[in-house]
Amino acid sequence: MPKEKEGSRKRYRTFIKEKGLFGDKDGPEDEKKEVPPADKGKPDAAADDKNKDKPKKPIKATLMRYFAELKMRRSRIAFILVMILVNTLLQAVMPWSGKFIIDNILSSRDFGVLVAFCVVLLCVGVSNVSLNFLQDYIINTFLGTIVTNIKRKMMQHLQVMPLEKVQELKVGGIISRLQNDAERMSALLQMGLFSPFRAILMLTVGLGSLFFLNWRLTLVCLAFAAVVVIAAYFIFNTMRRFHKKLREEVSTLTARLSETFSGIQVVRAFRRERSESFNFVVDNQFIYRKYLHGMSISMVVHRVIWVMYWCLLVAVYLYGGYHVITNKMSIGGLVVFISFIDWLFQPIFMIMSSFAEMQVSLACVEHVFELLDEPLTIKDASDAKSVNGITRDIVFDKVEFAYPNGTKAISGFDLTIPRGSITALVGPSGAGKSTITNLVMRFYDVTGGRILIDGEDIRSCKLGDYRGLSSLVLQDTFLFDGTVIDNIAYGKPDATLEEVIAAAKTAHCHEFVDSLEKKYETVIGERGVKLSGGQRQRLALARAILTDPELLILDEATSNLDSESEELIQDAMKKIFVGRTIIVIAHRLSTVMDADNIVVIDKGLKVEEGTHRKLLQRKGRYHKLYMTQMKKTTPTVLRWDDGDKQAAEAKVVS
Ligand code: ATP
Repeated sequence: MPKEKEGSRKRYRTFIKEKGLFGDKDGPEDEKKEVPPADKGKPDAAADDKNKDKPKKPIKATLMRYFAELKMRRSRIAFILVMILVNTLLQAVMPWSGKFIIDNILSSRDFGVLVAFCVVLLCVGVSNVSLNFLQDYIINTFLGTIVTNIKRKMMQHLQVMPLEKVQELKVGGIISRLQNDAERMSALLQMGLFSPFRAILMLTVGLGSLFFLNWRLTLVCLAFAAVVVIAAYFIFNTMRRFHKKLREEVSTLTARLSETFSGIQVVRAFRRERSESFNFVVDNQFIYRKYLHGMSISMVVHRVIWVMYWCLLVAVYLYGGYHVITNKMSIGGLVVFISFIDWLFQPIFMIMSSFAEMQVSLACVEHVFELLDEPLTIKDASDAKSVNGITRDIVFDKVEFAYPNGTKAISGFDLTIPRGSITALVGPSGAGKSTITNLVMRFYDVTGGRILIDGEDIRSCKLGDYRGLSSLVLQDTFLFDGTVIDNIAYGKPDATLEEVIAAAKTAHCHEFVDSLEKKYETVIGERGVKLSGGQRQRLALARAILTDPELLILDEATSNLDSESEELIQDAMKKIFVGRTIIVIAHRLSTVMDADNIVVIDKGLKVEEGTHRKLLQRKGRYHKLYMTQMKKTTPTVLRWDDGDKQAAEAKVVS
């Protein structure tokens, strides 16, 4: 976070002092400095952090793999290269024709020949332009296909990648990989192959022509070119680093903006509107100053190169003109020589910018390969069995689990959940209740012990079949910015309207949906912002009910409902879920008192289990939890003193 009340001008001066003009001077402070916590969540900051620890892959290996991926498209690539070759040669016809017209046709003073030659030249020009169009069209569709295919592969992989890896990437990181990095995959082909190929062809034809026309003059041009290359190298290299830093700053600002607006209620509640605006303005100004500074220097260097180019042209006119006057060179020769000077400089700039772009593209391609190489830890075994129901029970057999970061969440957990029963998991926050549901859903695999359904280890069942048996409703309901019907039918897209309405009635949301302007066709806004917390939970319950699961997991799924609605929904669900297994997690013990089995968990261990009555009689952990909650929820009555109402004091009577 920038220091408040420090203007962008002062910040920028300090920045230049510490980091240099382009921000690429890593002072000793920079090495010591940690990424501020606020920035750790940003996609780029996180990615950079992660990348620092990773050994860099050799560029050659990445390039080899990249081209190996394109092996199937060799013939298309070869076709494009041939088109580039033909186009470049056709383009060279024009300057040479100039020489022919000036030196041969004009001197013969034959208008008929001139007309005939111009008609041929026109045909060549039209062919060149048409071929150019075709070449660009083919290149663009080809690159588009590469991007589409890579995006498809990435999306498919992301959908089955380990949950912790997806969470590690964060939403911003995933979007950046899917959009930016995938797009850059195609740029690598353009910048790493097509563009340099064209540049080398131009350089060959250009240099060949120049040497053929006048080798001494060509050597003068090459001397100028060497100076230009050094200046251009300086500017490309420095500007590349400058733009990289600038991109990082912009992406940090974007991430901060996204945070500000996703937490807009917190910003307003804590009256931070002014300081958030101030910070944004300062950051924005700071970036703008950097941009302006960098661009000014770049513009100056560019103009210096231009001046040198002009000097070269003047030198060529002088030296070449002298050769023409002394009959050592034809007028046409001088004209075509000047045209071909461009064929010397243009490819040099093309190669340099391709090289700079290629480095950026290579980094993006590495990101894409890293993502695609991420191993799938949760997948079907080769001999995975089909499952189409739960006929007996779900058994936890000495289950152990630690999250990939090493947090031990479950230890020696034994539990049997008979088919058709309601099991409640209760316990303090962080005890491991949600972890158990994550393991049942196979979002993670156990690190010790087994989970069995009907005696079969869930790891030996087909994942798709197995997950298809269950439905999960979480406290933080996820709804899309779609219609009510789309959201309810998410797990069963082919459901009829009648089925959707029936599920909505069971989840007690039909009444409020019916009162909406467009009823089931109402769009509920991003993440369902146009609904109350309780309404969102009812929709999520309806969605789970519609899939008619064998196993229903409710993780604090009714916490936003009032007790009366909660009871009504529970009753309705009990009626329709006869014979189905239900696992409920709830902090409010009144919600789970009717469960067939209540399991108390603490620090990943099963502390006790039994029915509500049994557990109360045992006077153990559950009893303590229950009594604490009962004390808290005993109705409080506000009694006003009679008499002087102005001076009256509210007294709380328990
Ligand atoms: P609550 O009632 O607050 O939801 P809980 O009983 O459901 O808590 P869990 O979410 O299962 O608790 O968490 C159990 C432990 O695992 C906690 O110590 C938590 O910090 C840790 N934990 C949970 N999710 C992760 C994760 N993705 N990576 C690492 N550790 C995690």
